[in-house]
Amino acid sequence: MEFPLANRIEKLPPYLFADLRRKIAAKKAAGVKVISLGIGDPDSPTPQPVIGEMIRTVTNSADPDRHRYGCDCPVAELPDAIKRFYSRRYGVDLENGQIAVTSGSKDAIVQLCLGLLNPGDLGIAPQPGYPTYNIGHVFCSANTWHLPLRKTNGWLPDFGEIPLEVSQQAKLLWLNYPNNPTTAVAPPDFFREAVEFGRRHNILICHDSAYSENAYDGYKSPSILEVPGAADTAVEFYSLSKGFSMTGWRVGCVVGNPSAVKALRLVKENADNGMLRAIQFAAAKALDSIETLVPPINAVYKRRRDMVAEALDKAGWPVDIPRATIYVWAPVPEKYHGSSAAFAEDLLERAAVAVTPGRGYGVTGDGYYRISLTYPDAIIREALDRIRQLAEK
Ligand SMILES: *Cc1c(COP(=O)(O)O)cnc(C)c1O
Repeated sequence: MEFPLANRIEKLPPYLFADLRRKIAAKKAAGVKVISLGIGDPDSPTPQPVIGEMIRTVTNSADPDRHRYGCDCPVAELPDAIKRFYSRRYGVDLENGQIAVTSGSKDAIVQLCLGLLNPGDLGIAPQPGYPTYNIGHVFCSANTWHLPLRKTNGWLPDFGEIPLEVSQQAKLLWLNYPNNPTTAVAPPDFFREAVEFGRRHNILICHDSAYSENAYDGYKSPSILEVPGAADTAVEFYSLSKGFSMTGWRVGCVVGNPSAVKALRLVKENADNGMLRAIQFAAAKALDSIETLVPPINAVYKRRRDMVAEALDKAGWPVDIPRATIYVWAPVPEKYHGSSAAFAEDLLERAAVAVTPGRGYGVTGDGYYRISLTYPDAIIREALDRIRQLAEK
């Protein structure tokens, strides 16, 4: 028997890298040693103190709840550590009703949508942007209005470009700084403007701060909650994944507007059973030790970032040097006439290097490609040699 997919699954956008992925697989099958710089998943291991805390707490026989449902036996140390972290880092004081512990941001993005959107509702998602915002809307049979980000505006949205009927109808607006894929950071007044927009139109501003810790050259990324009164109209998705090399652990939080936090908690209470207590203890340890754990991880990305920028510069394909994220967002070389797909295909075909074409993040991402810095130095160096040889041909 073959069971038909639900309509909402049929409505998911096509996976825009499917074609490229097929071509990579075909090359590999033909024996070509393809180097991929495509995926943003930290290669450095999770810091030892975090692993140590995980082991200590999972084996702690004095804790009779250590094996039980995390939702029924939550670890109070984690929201406490989140409060300490937001206070120390951003000067933001959170209350219990403003914090939901999550199994990472991707899951929580969809869960918050389920908690807030009815069929036919509207959400606003940046383009280019992380695909899950739109996917969250689709799961709720809600619609997406795509808010263009452009190089000419520093990859920031222009709220004035949103038609009045869209801002009147929309319930959510997604933002993400430091930004994936463009690596842009938010200037000081940007979140103030976003909060004003949300307040004026009764829209929940959802700020995804997945790359808040991946910052270089002294840059410190702000929280949207630093804007006075932001919790009236905003939530922030904080994740330990990228900053602490903990993508597989699935832990983060959503903080800010109490009604949004409550909606998310209700979805979670009814759809998942929380997180192993040892993961919660370990996450608290990570947040409390951020000042010592994160700099060594970032030193590695910074070294690779500089390697990539220098090599592309020498190849005659210069890039802007990012102050944050784990990517380099590079303009497609002139001879490809702005087609990121044509460039990515040629690079794969003639240099056996895979990068992510910007078009995959939406039409306004075309003209750019993304290199991920989450690969060992030797692999990146080899890929850069190949790219340089192609550039010289
Ligand atoms: C990687 C990424 C996420 C996912 O983070 P998890 O907490 O691991 O689910 C969310 N948003 C953006 C923009 C990302 O790049």
